[in-house]
Amino acid sequence: FRLINMNSVTKTYQGKNGPFNAVDKVSLKVEENEIFGLIGESGAGKSTLLRFINALESPTEGYVSVDDTDVFNLSRKQLRQHQKGIGMIFQQFNLLNNKSVRENIQLPLELHKYEKPLTVEEVLAFVGLPDKADNYPSQLSGGEKQRVGIARALITRPKILLCDEPTSALDESTTEEIVDVLKRAHEAFDMTILVVTHELNVIKRMCRRCAVLEKGRLIDIIDIAPKTRKQ
Ligand code: ADP
Ligand code: ADP
Repeated sequence: FRLINMNSVTKTYQGKNGPFNAVDKVSLKVEENEIFGLIGESGAGKSTLLRFINALESPTEGYVSVDDTDVFNLSRKQLRQHQKGIGMIFQQFNLLNNKSVRENIQLPLELHKYEKPLTVEEVLAFVGLPDKADNYPSQLSGGEKQRVGIARALITRPKILLCDEPTSALDESTTEEIVDVLKRAHEAFDMTILVVTHELNVIKRMCRRCAVLEKGRLIDIIDIAPKTRKQ
């Protein structure tokens, strides 16, 4: 199971003009093994919503569960276990520039003990960079950096992969390549993927369903037709 359930989640922040709801009573279910999109303009609350799932943010109200476990009612040990099962990739890749590709990819394994991690060689081959282990991030293109970001997430074999604007720093053809890597990862590694983006093309190419957020509110959930979802 990698089933995500959000029930009337709200996040209230202090803004310039008083408190406002960055996320406003959002309820949604993401099914096991789905690729699910969250689309909306900048500031719509997409990242905040995504970060509830691995407890990087906590909602002011409402609850979030993964496989029927309440994410915000866990012991420290349970929370660590929960977070270990979730990988994340970022718009700006979040690689450490003073570490090699190999060291960057191994980082998660140094933070926690995993039962059956993949190897650096396996994940680098998977993302199509078999020869880059000893390079440094500054020697890589944007698309290559994101491939390394994906490799770092995959090495732990996550059950859930959270993608926060994974292609927003990339041009169109690189975006297509990264979408293809993520779709291959979905097929190869049995996991639920959530993709936050403001790019409709990315949603169309990879998601089965997509939630539309506007000013913190969930205004629609769209089924993407398989014909549109290019293979
Ligand atoms: P369909 O069978 O509807 O034409 P595809 O050929 O695109 O779908 O995909 C083949 C299988 O992979 C189907 O079982 C489909 O449910 C699953 N699949 C493909 N893309 C996704 C996705 N984005 N989320 C969840 N499942 C997917
Ligand atoms: P999106 O990912 O859709 O761009 P975010 O979830 O990042 O949106 O942000 C939603 C709203 O919450 C924005 O108006 C943003 O400025 C605000 N926000 C995000 N984090 C904080 C914070 N820590 N304090 C105050 N406001 C925040």
